[in-house]
This record gives sequence, C-alpha cells and structure tokens, in this order.
Amino acid sequence: MLRFAPSPTGDMHIGNLRVALFNYILSKQRNEPLLIRIEDTDKERNIPGKDQEIIGILHLFGIEYGELIYQSNNLKFHRAMALQLLQNKKAFNCFCTPETLDEKREAAIAAKLPYRYDGTCTDLSDAETIDNPNPFVVRLKKPDHAIEVHDIIKGDSRFEPDDIDSFIIMRADKFPTYNFACAVDDMLGDISLVIRGEDHVSNTPKQMAIREALGYDKTIEYAHLPIILGEEGRKMSKRDNASSVKWMLEEGFLPQAIANYLILMGNKAPTEIFTIQEAIEWFRLDHVSKAPARFDLDKLRFINKAHLKMMENKELSRYVGFADDAVGALAKVYLDEASTLKELREKLAAVFAPKVIEGEFAEPAALLREAIMQAPYCETYDAFKNHLMVQTGLKGKLLFKPLRLLLSGAEHGPELADIYPMLKDYLGEIVK
Ligand code: GLU
Repeated sequence: MLRFAPSPTGDMHIGNLRVALFNYILSKQRNEPLLIRIEDTDKERNIPGKDQEIIGILHLFGIEYGELIYQSNNLKFHRAMALQLLQNKKAFNCFCTPETLDEKREAAIAAKLPYRYDGTCTDLSDAETIDNPNPFVVRLKKPDHAIEVHDIIKGDSRFEPDDIDSFIIMRADKFPTYNFACAVDDMLGDISLVIRGEDHVSNTPKQMAIREALGYDKTIEYAHLPIILGEEGRKMSKRDNASSVKWMLEEGFLPQAIANYLILMGNKAPTEIFTIQEAIEWFRLDHVSKAPARFDLDKLRFINKAHLKMMENKELSRYVGFADDAVGALAKVYLDEASTLKELREKLAAVFAPKVIEGEFAEPAALLREAIMQAPYCETYDAFKNHLMVQTGLKGKLLFKPLRLLLSGAEHGPELADIYPMLKDYLGEIVK
C-alpha cells in the first residue's frame, strides 16, 4: 500500500500535488492501493474544510485512491503503542519543564554546541515516575546504533544516535507528535513505499527508530522529492501565488497540464507532452533529479497550450463557457495568443461583447453593421468581404479596421479569414 498524507492546515501546494501524483503513479505501477490519510493530529493548525478541498483537488486530477482515513481516528492505537514502548523500556516519561529545556537549549546555543536532550529522565526508577504528579511527555529512548536510510531518489544516508536523540512521541496533552503518529500509521497501513517532500528527510530515521522499537521489521522504502524553487531560485513559499494549486486552476491552467508539468520537472521523460496514464507507462522514481526543481511559468504555459490544442472542440467550448463546437474551434485559433483558459475566455468575451465603436471608425462601423445585418448567408470570408465592400463602398483601412473591431472586439488578433468560419453562424449576436 502507498499513501498520500496531507495535513489539512492550508492550501494545497504544488509540491504536495507532485507528491500525490507520484504516489498515484507508483501505486498503479506496483498494482498496490493508494491510501489517503488526512493528518489532522495537530488540532490547533487544522483549518476546517481544507480536508474536503484537498480531496476535491485529488478528484479533479484523477488521482484515484482505495481508502480515505483521518489520522485522529487512530489515536487509540497511538496511545496503546506508546504504552507498549513505556512498558518495554523503549520509551520513558520525561518531566523536564519546557522552561528548563529552553534554558538548556539556550546554553547549548551560547556554547555553539548542538542541543541534545541531556538524559535527565531517561533512567528514572518506576517509583520516581509513578509518584510524580507533574505533567510529562513521552520520549523514545535514542537508539544505540546508527540508522541507515536508503532513499530511491537521494541515495543512502546514515544518522547517528545523537542525530536522532531521545525525541518526544507523546505530548503532555496525551496526543502523539507527528513523527509518532506517522510512524505508527505507516505500520498499521502496511505501507511499502513512502514518497514525500524532502522537508521530511530528518524525520525518516526517527520514524524508523519508532517502528524498530515497536518490533516491526518490515522494510518501508523511502523516496524524498526535492523542493520546488520559485522562478528567482528561492524556495517557493505559501505567499508565491504560483505555488497554490487553487491559484493555478483559477488562472486557467488545466489539471492535465499541471500534472504533466509537475511530472516533467526535474525528470527524464521520453516526451514533453503526456497524460498521467501515459506517464504510468514510463515513469521511474530513480530518474527524478535530486537537485531542487525550478518552477518555470513559461514552460507551464507552453504545456497548457499544448493540452488545450489537443482537446476536443466541444470540450474546450464547454471549458470557456459555451456549448457549441464552433466556439471551441474559435478558441483554438486564439491559442496563438493565449495559453490559459482565463486568457481564452477574455478573448472570446471580447468577440461576443456588444461593441461601441467611436472616433474615426464610428461611421464606417455603423455602415458595416447595417450591411452585415442585412447580408445573405456567406459561406466564405471572401464572399462576405466582397459583399460588404459592394454594399458599403468602403475599402482598405476604413473597411478592415472597423470590420475587425466588429467581429473580434479587438484592434489586433488572428486573420479575419481564420475566424470567419466559426463566426458566420453568430454574426447577428457578434456585431450587435
Ligand atoms: N502530513 C505531512 C505533510 O503534509 C506529510 C507527512 C508524510 O508524508 O509523511 O507534510
């Protein structure tokens, strides 16, 4: 089983979506189910409704999953396993107050030493523990050996016991920390491969240490995806618009194009334009670059345009808010100058908007408008244009400038001959 484990604490970031896509692809390739686990253990940071938003995005991108669970439902298991670790002396109750720990941390910083838990409570006797009325947390005893992590993308690394330290697994409020809940849930879910962002690299040996202490010896494979850098080469933050999936969709990027782009970035791919289903055929985790991927909006625009071109006219028409094939075909002509649905909608809105033409072209436009309204149905643009020339006596700039304004609502744009075939059935609506 694979899993995607989002926290419902904010908007879905493109880095999270990339993780979800890779998990989906690997689950298909390995023919193992995908579990969605909403990591809602950190009650203060949960934002109501974000879980549904994340699930909505997964559906939109065609990421099918077998099961959906909420981490908070596993609380009884987290508590039971913490108790088991305490009984087996693999974990201990720690009564050190946050103030004392802060002082020690500051002293370590002042001495330019890495802060480590100093072991004050590691070996308290049962009596000292049981009779102690003070609040306590539960810490896992730091392992007595180094932990080796093999990462499909990043390669091997080794973490010494001091890197892992005696870290907290249950807080004073009896709720598990992220590392503990995650390690236990991956075990309960019989997870075979964890794909997640590289911000979790230092958590992996801790989670392995937890399962080892619990006596779970099945190996879980790991792959940590490098971070995505913004266009200026800085880490993309929540404040970067382009890092939010919601923003991208609102800007008119197609889910299939966003998915294509996120799979392509920092990867070896046989082609640039593909669907998720095609990627399942060739995708390899070990071909994903371990260097940070750099977000490139122009590339995404290029890919979006390619997917818009591939779309059926009828479907594209519906995406831009119309019901007719012809509007889809018209939108495709506009792809020379538009790359997103939002841009296409703007172009088409101008075509169908009522036109107010003022200044030197006001008079010829009025003549043309009348001639168009009374014109017989012309199959070709040439016949249409010739008819208007004869009827109005206009030619050159005085014919073409106002005609373009009347037909497209813009001063510049595609050749009128290219758009006329799609407009000819709507002339009454367009020139009004
Ligand atoms: N809930 C964690 C996050 O959203 C993911 C943890 C994981 O994949 O192990 O960053």
